[in-house]
Amino acid sequence: MSGATLIDGKAIAAGLRGEVAAAVVRFAGEHGVHPGLAVVLVGDDPASQVYVRNKKRETEAAGMASFEVKVPAATSERELLAVVEELNRRADVDGILVQLPLPPHIDSGRVIEAIDPAKDVDGFHPINAGRLASGQPGLVPCTPLGCIILAKSVQPDLMGLEAVVVGRSNIVGKPVAQLLLAENCTVTIAHSKSRALPEITARADLLVAAVGRPELIRGDWIKPGAIVIDVGINRVPGEGGKHRLVGDVDFEDTRHVAGAITPVPGGVGPMTIACLLRNTLVAAASRRGLPIPL
Ligand code: NAP
Repeated sequence: MSGATLIDGKAIAAGLRGEVAAAVVRFAGEHGVHPGLAVVLVGDDPASQVYVRNKKRETEAAGMASFEVKVPAATSERELLAVVEELNRRADVDGILVQLPLPPHIDSGRVIEAIDPAKDVDGFHPINAGRLASGQPGLVPCTPLGCIILAKSVQPDLMGLEAVVVGRSNIVGKPVAQLLLAENCTVTIAHSKSRALPEITARADLLVAAVGRPELIRGDWIKPGAIVIDVGINRVPGEGGKHRLVGDVDFEDTRHVAGAITPVPGGVGPMTIACLLRNTLVAAASRRGLPIPL
């Protein structure tokens, strides 16, 4: 490949998982605490089942306990809140993740708010979102944290960069913008109502695309030499009636212009579970008032 450096999310995520696994061993040796992650799955959505299975495998591979709580799709909101309350009380559970999306009869906001913020390893609780926005320590959403780690793998100090985030969701766009601000970037957030999007993205030394629109961002929207972090995961028709995954950035068109770029798949995707494991260890330490072992 000529042009951009390929940011290998798979390798960087494997490195982070290894660091977490080593820290788990040290932490258990020093404090006698064995961190545990509980994942709650409501119903039998096939994609969610795959995610939950992968999380269990990776949690156990990192030397942590994994607890799966599976409840039927017809579970009421009240019953699900009771499940979360029980996990909040359990001493052996350090992290709680409720797999989204939830069935339509359940208010996911109410369920997220029921999770003890000290165990909210997804970082979606309004308390943790507020801590991030006000620069206080807390649990940070996994995919946005992964984006920052990937950007810093090619440029360790992001201070002063013009950063543009396309997308303003609570789970990716807003937290990634907050994290970039904390890294002393000058941050612009664009969204579906932004005018002249290509002119905005062309200013970016660091571009994060979290849109959910296949290959929206083209090579001529990119500043030459920019770092491009593509969060998008979009399924599009491929050859022979199959599907293939593409990002929000047109990779082929952009890789000759960018300085560094994440591929899809193999870029941001693998970072999410690695950061979830990291957050579980952080939660295990901080809720006991112990130093964070990473
Ligand atoms: P989302 O909640 O649908 O938010 C999409 C954002 O993009 C919104 O803020 C929307 O603007 C904006 N947008 C939509 N069309 C646009 C356009 N044409 N021009 C400019 N902005 C536009 O999506 P999300 O949950 O943030 O996820 C974004 C992408 O990341 C998806 O492809 C998702 O699959 C992927 N993702 C990957 C991971 C991972 O790698 N592990 C994790 C999470 C998400 P408005 O606010 O104005 O509607």
